[in-house]
Amino acid sequence: MKKAVVLGAGGFIGSHLVKRLRSEGYWVTGVDLVKPIYSQTEANEFIIGDLRDVNVVESSISKSTDEVYQLAADMGGAGYIFTGANDAHVMHNSALINLHVAHRCAIAKVGKLFYSSSACVYPEHNQLDPENPRCNEDSVYPAAPDSEYGWEKLFSERLYFSFKRNHGLNTKVARFHNIYGPEGAWDNGKEKAPAAICRKVAKSAPNGTVEIWGDGKQTRSFLYIEDCIDAVRALMQSDFSGPVNIGSEEMVSINDFTQMVAKISGKQVNVVNIEGPTGVRGRSSDNRLISSKLDWAPKYDLTTGITITYKWIEEQLNAQ
Ligand code: NAD
Repeated sequence: MKKAVVLGAGGFIGSHLVKRLRSEGYWVTGVDLVKPIYSQTEANEFIIGDLRDVNVVESSISKSTDEVYQLAADMGGAGYIFTGANDAHVMHNSALINLHVAHRCAIAKVGKLFYSSSACVYPEHNQLDPENPRCNEDSVYPAAPDSEYGWEKLFSERLYFSFKRNHGLNTKVARFHNIYGPEGAWDNGKEKAPAAICRKVAKSAPNGTVEIWGDGKQTRSFLYIEDCIDAVRALMQSDFSGPVNIGSEEMVSINDFTQMVAKISGKQVNVVNIEGPTGVRGRSSDNRLISSKLDWAPKYDLTTGITITYKWIEEQLNAQ
């Protein structure tokens, strides 16, 4: 039986990944500061620990570990990452985790290491036009991410690839673009735009108002969680190392997205654009590389994925 360690297994993507690996027959160790909030973990063992502590990293990853999935990071939505208030924490906490993990994986000679980077690595100057953002993998240099979160991700990509070159660590890196779905943060200050907007619409009265940060003309694409996990598994099973985008090319403005959610909810809402942190003007995944290397494309369109997610968030609200 193959042994996998999922770091960040208490988080949104990590908890879904644990389920997938178990369904594929892996023996899974999950590690996180916390257990998943919205469902029971399916990990065979779950270590509650702080991965900034080298002893926790060393006791989680052993010579018998076949695959490590490194998803642990100090992160959140725009309200957490783009205000600047959490910059030092974000850089210090996530860099410490990655420094320890890269070193330990090399020493323990793990079979494969997956690292979850982010679309936030891409330079701001290529994402000023909301209709034509440029996010092909090669466009990352010369580097100019718009947040310290993005800079840390870029540093850690380079860290893992340096361990590949110098120590033979079988590193695989994906740049996630806005992953959403059931069991993601939706009301704790770390939620991202899709969940936050679903919550706002679910809470609004019919014909009520929904506040949207910025002018709402900023564009994004969103990828459903199951598609994300499919792509991670395809990357791990391939000979390809990346870095590669894992995202959707179905780009939408935030105002249009809000109206889409309203339609799904069956309500009319009035969008009011207010000041708030927004990140870059336009961003969408460029899937040419993943399509050619892994023959992967999303199976869920935005309406289908958001319909499932909206229902889940509405249930959470009703259960409060
Ligand atoms: P999440 O916040 O739900 O999960 C991250 C987990 O890491 C949390 O459970 C948290 O407790 C854990 N963690 C943080 N610091 C830790 C520490 N010191 N020790 C142990 N555990 C710690 O986030 P997610 O949405 O599941 O994202 C997973 C990964 O994917 C992250 O690295 C994130 O940066 C990356 N990513 C996510 C998205 C997205 O849209 N969700 C987009 C780009 C990149």
